[in-house]
Amino acid sequence: MAKKPLLEFTDKGIYCDKGRFYIDPWKPVDDAVITHAHADHAYFGHKHYLAHHLSREVLYYRLGDIQLQTVEYGETVVKNGVSISLFPAGHVIGSAQIRVEYQGEVWVVSGDYKTEDDGISTPFEPVKCHHFISECTFGMPVYQWKPQVQIFDEVNNWWRNNANNGVATVIVGYSLGKAQRILQNLDLSIGTVYTHGVIENTNEALRRNGVILNPTERITLDTPKEEVRNGIIIAPPSSVGTPWMRKFQPYSFGYCSGWMAIRGAKRRRAADRGFILSDHADWDGLVSAIDATGCEKVYLTHGYTATFTRYLNEIGFDAHEVHTLYGDDEALESVPSEEPVADSSLSFGEGRGEGEGVNS
Ligand SMILES: [Zn+2]
Ligand SMILES: [Zn+2]
Repeated sequence: MAKKPLLEFTDKGIYCDKGRFYIDPWKPVDDAVITHAHADHAYFGHKHYLAHHLSREVLYYRLGDIQLQTVEYGETVVKNGVSISLFPAGHVIGSAQIRVEYQGEVWVVSGDYKTEDDGISTPFEPVKCHHFISECTFGMPVYQWKPQVQIFDEVNNWWRNNANNGVATVIVGYSLGKAQRILQNLDLSIGTVYTHGVIENTNEALRRNGVILNPTERITLDTPKEEVRNGIIIAPPSSVGTPWMRKFQPYSFGYCSGWMAIRGAKRRRAADRGFILSDHADWDGLVSAIDATGCEKVYLTHGYTATFTRYLNEIGFDAHEVHTLYGDDEALESVPSEEPVADSSLSFGEGRGEGEGVNS
């Protein structure tokens, strides 16, 4: 009889039968190991959670009073004889790859990851394994990121220009990960950093967790608009096109996402500026990360799985496409699917947004 694989793909998530636990399950289970606190990986309703300790406060904030055990990177937890340890994924603060070992066989689940050091998330660390389960959100050769220092030069120049012209600056990125990465790389000599409530709630959760972030000021009804004009506002995707955002007019609106690499994405989002900044690995990052594991088999969970799997098989990997419910945390959900709206900072899409806690 064929041996049951150590990890298998089920309709509830990635399952370890030997250890009787799931990794990032999307249906309620007894025992869940969580790679990171984004909504498509950390679902509500599990009896017990295991995650990195830097995910603790954000998980409590998003999921409420859950039963949560947290660990450091490299620390081992044993469940029914199966060893579990977490390693940095470099995706967002607290994000981890999950290493699972039983009788010398090692599997690693990447969760979401990026190979560039963003200066705020613990940098990605390749982990040797026999089987590697990888995302491939940007698994197409067209996705090649520039070093973030170059992107933030563009961001800071844009902000400085706006401030000199009396135009408010609104920069949009999801609330866990992108927002803090932006915050830590802004040139604070230009002005004050203001935050939308959704972003500030996440910042506060991280600060409770001991993360040192640059100072921010939460925007309230009392915040004087004139002051805000010299500063920069960090806002979540769900705020795009809402009256909340419109009250800062005149403003320039910039969007930070890997999808800004696609022609037309900025225009469809009605953004004045599109900054190609992603918390996922680009093409080279994916290929080098997979190669560095020395794995015998690689499974691709979400992104351009078909194309990327084909490519990996062509260059000699044993690659397999698998079906999961992991989404795309950089998705431009609120981009209207119709034709581009007028190229003006005053025209906005529906602003349906992804709502608090969902893929933000
Ligand atoms: Zn994510
Ligand atoms: Zn994801």
